[in-house]
Amino acid sequence: MAQNYVVTRSASVGLLSSSPSEYTRVFLFVGVAGIRYLGGHSFQHPCDKISPRSPAVVLSPAQQPIVTPKIPSNRKLFNSTSSDKVEMSKMMKVLLAVVLFVVPYVAAHIETSDLEESVHLKLDKLLFFKRKPGKNTVRTGSKDALYSYDGGPGTSNWDGVCSSGTKQSPIDFKPEETVAVYRRVLRFHGATQIPQNTNITNSGHSIKIKLRTQKPITVTGGVFGSKVYEFQQLHFHWGKNVNEGSEHTIKTKQYPLEGHLVFYKVGSKDPTTEPDGIAVLGVQYEFFRKDNIILEPIIKSIGQVTNPGQFVVKSNGFPLRDYLPADLDTYLSYTGSLTTPPCTEGVTWIVFSDKQSVSERQVSQFRTMKDDIGLKVEYNFRETHPLNGRQVHLVKSSERVVA
Ligand SMILES: [Zn+2]
Repeated sequence: MAQNYVVTRSASVGLLSSSPSEYTRVFLFVGVAGIRYLGGHSFQHPCDKISPRSPAVVLSPAQQPIVTPKIPSNRKLFNSTSSDKVEMSKMMKVLLAVVLFVVPYVAAHIETSDLEESVHLKLDKLLFFKRKPGKNTVRTGSKDALYSYDGGPGTSNWDGVCSSGTKQSPIDFKPEETVAVYRRVLRFHGATQIPQNTNITNSGHSIKIKLRTQKPITVTGGVFGSKVYEFQQLHFHWGKNVNEGSEHTIKTKQYPLEGHLVFYKVGSKDPTTEPDGIAVLGVQYEFFRKDNIILEPIIKSIGQVTNPGQFVVKSNGFPLRDYLPADLDTYLSYTGSLTTPPCTEGVTWIVFSDKQSVSERQVSQFRTMKDDIGLKVEYNFRETHPLNGRQVHLVKSSERVVA
């Protein structure tokens, strides 16, 4: 059985470190581990094997048990009367496998909204599958984040702060409501490092990118002053045709694609509930006849992550700086909310004036991903919300530092 244990263990490592995967595989692994355990098979560690050098095989005949139905392991000889301890040991190995491999895996890949839930894993999501709603079910509610855009521009069916909040995002930027201010430059750190790998995940509502880097990627300065924010993930919003897509609009004009770089305040105990815990940097894309090469690895991966929870991990990839526009010195900024449930308010928004480019073909690829009821996500932008007296700044900076 020792060999079986090794095979199972290495299979689990392989499962977690390579190729696109699904939750079912992970739970299959747990299931197999559980069945092996409950079926009474021994999870004997390779070290438990009798070795010629082991004192276990040189006991005098008088010390040997009269009946030995099973070959005793070394561990059993040291504790020959305590089968409870052996049982506990088996149990601990199963638990260890779950804690070491399954929990981090699920934690890293279950996402339901713009929030970064790897930090705040919901145990109910890990342990229980929710029954899929029917195709015509209107899904509302921020509690389990089973939301959709099929209420039309009517994401008004989202509940909680999404419908009651007065500082919601996105907004339409109107020049007459914008005040020009000067701030120190935004200072990025770690934004130019080549990531060790790039994780591309179908979050159920968008395509989400995470970069694994040696050093954290942070931003400070500009409208953040001395506060430092650390990069978490990047995701996109698009529309069902060439005339829509971006969440923020400029004089009611919608762009075909908008990228959101989500940052959390460094040193915050729970950035998702603190008033200034979250910052989102918005990058809008304009159509261009040529493909954007920075987006190509993502576009090419969408076919492999069609279903929610599926992901691919590519070694290296582009540094975060490449997803930002060339000019970082001019941007619109205001205080708003997450644009997906739970629509948490207090989010510091930056939407850069400079744009990136995307081809029609690339945007059309985003529309092929599917949501949690198997429908293609043809669009995932929220309608704009009233300012309700909030101040919008057009920020200009005189110099730029990206290190
Ligand atoms: Zn977003």
